[in-house]
Amino acid sequence: MPTISFFTFGCKLNQAETIVLKEKFYVQGFSIVPFNSQADFYLINACAVTQKAEKEVRQAIHQIKRQHPNSQLIVAGCLTKQIIKSEQAQVDLWIENKDKKNIYQLVLKNLIQSSSRFKSTDSELEKDNQRTRALIKIQDGCQHYCTYCIVPYLRQKIYSQPLNKIIQEIKEKEKQGFHEVVLVGANISLYNDQGLNLSSLLEKILDQTKISRLRISSLWPTAIDQELLSLIKKNSRLCSHLHLSIQSACDKILLSMGRNYKQKQLKQIIAKLDKIPNLSLTADIIVGFPGEKESNFQETYQFIKWAKFLKIHVFRFSPRPGTKAYLLKNQVPDQVKQTRAKILRNLSEQIAEEKRKKYFTQILPVLFESKQGSYWSGLTPNYLKVFIKTNKDLSNKIINLKLTGLYQDGLKGKIFI
Ligand code: SF4
Repeated sequence: MPTISFFTFGCKLNQAETIVLKEKFYVQGFSIVPFNSQADFYLINACAVTQKAEKEVRQAIHQIKRQHPNSQLIVAGCLTKQIIKSEQAQVDLWIENKDKKNIYQLVLKNLIQSSSRFKSTDSELEKDNQRTRALIKIQDGCQHYCTYCIVPYLRQKIYSQPLNKIIQEIKEKEKQGFHEVVLVGANISLYNDQGLNLSSLLEKILDQTKISRLRISSLWPTAIDQELLSLIKKNSRLCSHLHLSIQSACDKILLSMGRNYKQKQLKQIIAKLDKIPNLSLTADIIVGFPGEKESNFQETYQFIKWAKFLKIHVFRFSPRPGTKAYLLKNQVPDQVKQTRAKILRNLSEQIAEEKRKKYFTQILPVLFESKQGSYWSGLTPNYLKVFIKTNKDLSNKIINLKLTGLYQDGLKGKIFI
C-alpha cells in the first residue's frame, strides 16, 4: 500500500486543510505515516506569510530530497513556484490553494499513474491521540489587501462553508470524541453565507450541536458585534477567549498597513470586552513595519500595557515580495525589529503573570491535552494553561480544577470535586 507523510507550516487554516487532505488520501487506500518515517510521498502544506516560514519550507524540501531521494514530493498551499524558484526542480508536484480540493486526482494523474509501484488496499488512518481540538474550516479567502499580507494574492476567492456542512462536520467530530472545535479560516470575520454572519453562525452551531466547547480563531477587531458579546456572556460553551488581529495601535502605522481602524476604536471595543467576567483577550502585533518610529512603537507599547492582553504574538515585519509594503521606503533595520519584539514579549510575559495571579482559588474546567513528565496540561475555556501532577490518564478529559498557583507558562491546580 502507498504511504504518505504530511508536514504543515503556518496558520490554523493550513492545519485544518491538512486534516482534510489526510482524509482524502486515507479513503483512497493510503497509509498515513509520521513525517520522520520513510514514505512513498511527502506532502508539505506550505506557508508564505513570513520570510521565516518560507525559509523553513525550503529547508524541509531540501531535507526530504536529501533523506528520501526516491520518494515523491508534493508542495501545496501558500507558496507558489514563483516564490521559491530555486527549489522548483526538487518538487515533483505543486498544488495551488485553488486546486487543493482536487489534490488526490492531481497526484493520481501526475505521480501515481506514471508509476506501477502503487496498488490501493485498505489501511488504518493514523490517529493522533494527542489531538483534543478539531479545526473546522468555515471560510477561505480575503480581499482586505493589508499592505504587508500575501494572503489575498494566494487566497483571493472568498468562500464561506454553508451552515449544514459545518454542523455535519462538527457532529462527526463529536462522534469521534472531540470535546472542542475551533472555527478557522483565512479571515473568519468575513464569514457570510446567505445572510448568516459569524455571530449568527455561532448561535446556530450552539443550538444545533452538543459540542462542549466552541472556540473561534483570529478576529478583525472592529468586526466584533453586540451579538457576539451577548453570546459569549450567556453561553458557556462558547469559549470566553477572543484573539484579536490588531497588528499595531499607532494610527499612522495602521493607515500605512491598510487597516481601517484607529486606536480610539480599539480602546472602545476592549473597554466593552473588559466588562465580560473571565474573558481573555490575546492579540497579534507586528513590530518594525516600514516607517515605524520609536514614538510610534511606544504608542503600541502603551496600548498593550493598557489593554492587558493575556498573551500577544509578536511578529517582526517581514517584507513579502508582491505586497505593497515590500516597496515602502523607511524599512526598519532588523536589529531595531528584534529589540522591539523582545520588549513586547517581555511586557506580554509580565502582564500574563499578573493576569494569571487573579485566577488563584478560582475553579475552572480544563480540557487536558498532553503530558510532560509527571504533569498533565490543558486549557481552560479562557485560554489559561493549567498543569496538574498525577499518574492518571487525563487525555481529552474535561475536569474542574481549583487553581492554586503559578507554574511554568500557566497555572497549577488540584481536582475540585
Ligand atoms: S485581513 Fe489583512 S492580514 Fe488578514 S488575511 Fe486579509 S489581508 Fe491578510
